[in-house]
Amino acid sequence: MIVCLKIGSLVVMALALAWAGVFAWWRQWHMALAELSLTVVGLAGWLLIYSGRMNSALIVIQSALLVFVVCFTLMFDVPNAGIPRITHLYLLFLALFGYINYLRRKSKVQIGLIAACLGAFVVLSCTTYALPFARVIPDDIRSAGVWINGVLATTMMWGGVWAIQREFTRPKGMALELRNAVRNNEMRLYFQPQIDHAGMIIGAEALLRWEHPKRGQVSPGEFIPVAEEAGLMPLLGGWVLQEACKTLVDWSDDPVLSRLTLAVNVSATQFKVDDFESSLLELVGVHGVNPARLKLELTESVIVHDMEPTVARIERLRGAGIGFALDDFGTGYSSLSYLRRLPLDQLKIDRSFVRESLECERSAGLVKSIIKLGLDLGFVVLAEGIETTAQHAFLLKCGCDEFQGYLFGRPMSEDDFREHVRTATFAAADASPDLLRRAVGEIRSGNERAVN
Ligand code: C2E
Ligand code: MG
Ligand code: MG
Repeated sequence: MIVCLKIGSLVVMALALAWAGVFAWWRQWHMALAELSLTVVGLAGWLLIYSGRMNSALIVIQSALLVFVVCFTLMFDVPNAGIPRITHLYLLFLALFGYINYLRRKSKVQIGLIAACLGAFVVLSCTTYALPFARVIPDDIRSAGVWINGVLATTMMWGGVWAIQREFTRPKGMALELRNAVRNNEMRLYFQPQIDHAGMIIGAEALLRWEHPKRGQVSPGEFIPVAEEAGLMPLLGGWVLQEACKTLVDWSDDPVLSRLTLAVNVSATQFKVDDFESSLLELVGVHGVNPARLKLELTESVIVHDMEPTVARIERLRGAGIGFALDDFGTGYSSLSYLRRLPLDQLKIDRSFVRESLECERSAGLVKSIIKLGLDLGFVVLAEGIETTAQHAFLLKCGCDEFQGYLFGRPMSEDDFREHVRTATFAAADASPDLLRRAVGEIRSGNERAVN
């Protein structure tokens, strides 16, 4: 912006000087003088920007230009039956310029200047008013001037709109860093165990983490909304799906890990991308992933708009063997009618319900009803965010099928998750030899094969 303004004030100076020369050549001394005063405005603006006083520079330039355009129009650019007024068109550009500055730094003075520009534009467009001592520019000059100024002012307007458009679409700050984060290998997948009613680990949810080089680990709660807004979710989500597929392939060699499902969160913007379905199926095919091991977690926001195409897409992907869960159930729009129509496998009850489940009878009743509803509709019901054994016991009693929460393991790196699964499997085998004898036998024989 500073560079643009420096160039802009130089251009104003140069143009004003050129016009001053032209008017002097035509012996229009008043106008030559007016143009010279504009050169002074350009110079003052350039000096203020140069000395780092950007805000004062912008306000001074805008105010001076506003006064100049209004005075010039009333004094010299007086319309007649053959030739309209034109100079006041620059007021629209000035208002737009003010708005760009307002986006950069909000101020009441700026709003006042924008209002003054627009007000003056309206008055000068709707009247033929001129100062009583006006010195009208000769018609032969004005007839050329309307075209030159018309084209110039419109081009400047177009430039202003283009600048605003760029400002809106340019990813800034964290969004810019996020775009590079995937390329710089700063993203990690963490895994949080999911267990069944018997306490066995049956899967994991893949949760994204950003290892920021300066800020350390950044939580998805912080960067996902930024990525959503900057339109980066398809890029980030694509990386997550690719990593999830690679992980499933790695697990497929392991007798215990190969039984696990991996749940991946998919945002609304990612799921709605046209080629989401084909690129996911291609990814699954290229990596040779068993689609039954992959589960996509959608939130209610995916479903609310465009129900029909969403249902069709879910049905096609389910047809290919991929599972679907509805994440954070109960926190969004929660219309019960869509639950009936959605081809889902699993309902994930949001952790806010779990947290409150033991606080009062009403909350307990609500959780019971949600679980019953999910089960009656034929879904597997998983409760998220379980932190205490009391919550677990209550949910088990309510008939909940699966569980996830800090009580069973926090999100962890892949190496830690492997270790966690092994330890948990051995522990469970000791507690219930019949159930797990075979699984542990397979791990041990797998270990022997690896040693040999
Ligand atoms: P989510 O999908 O509902 O994931 C569960 C969140 O609950 C995770 O937060 C997890 O760490 C947290 N959690 C699990 N158990 C407990 C518990 O016992 N107590 C408490 N207090 N929290 C628990 P996290 O990892 O910070 O993720 C937050 C959200 O960010 C996720 O909510 C999900 O919506 C989103 N997210 C994470 N990774 C991805 C991703 O790869 N793609 C997309 N689209 N969203 C993601
Ligand atoms: Mg989730
Ligand atoms: Mg959730």
